[in-house]
Amino acid sequence: MSLTLIDPNCNTPVINPLIFNMNGQDLNDLIEKVDHVLSLYKPTQRRDIKKKLKKILSSDSYDRVCDAIEMALSKRVHRYTSPSQRSVYRIEGNRGNYIVYQYAPYCTCTNFKFAVSHRNDKSQSSFCKHIIAARIAERKRLEESRDVSEQEVQQIILEGIES
Ligand SMILES: [Zn+2]
Repeated sequence: MSLTLIDPNCNTPVINPLIFNMNGQDLNDLIEKVDHVLSLYKPTQRRDIKKKLKKILSSDSYDRVCDAIEMALSKRVHRYTSPSQRSVYRIEGNRGNYIVYQYAPYCTCTNFKFAVSHRNDKSQSSFCKHIIAARIAERKRLEESRDVSEQEVQQIILEGIES
């Protein structure tokens, strides 16, 4: 089965080139696969979704994707957008809240920090389940969106940096 890749000329966001070159394509491929599977079933058919995903994903990706789908479907992905269109996500994780940037695969969780430090190891994915959750939520319009002031969005970004 061939996968449809995102058209590079269509709505491609500005992405940190260092991170994008390393992992952007892998992440896009993964999200395309997940998006396709989710389009085959209703959100309530979790068992069927997981069964299908298990067939097409590596075991490492499978666990992260299942957690990410749960987070997206249970409305734990919050998107905050300022008047200047700066957007960040706050993800309610099991052990706290994490900040994910909209246009770069970046998260404030520990798992992401370790993944990045090992990015030359091909067995490691350089993105965590929160980044996947944000991408899935965005694609499927599952995020809880709120318009906030510039100051509030900056505060959320700082909250992530200082955690
Ligand atoms: Zn994370």
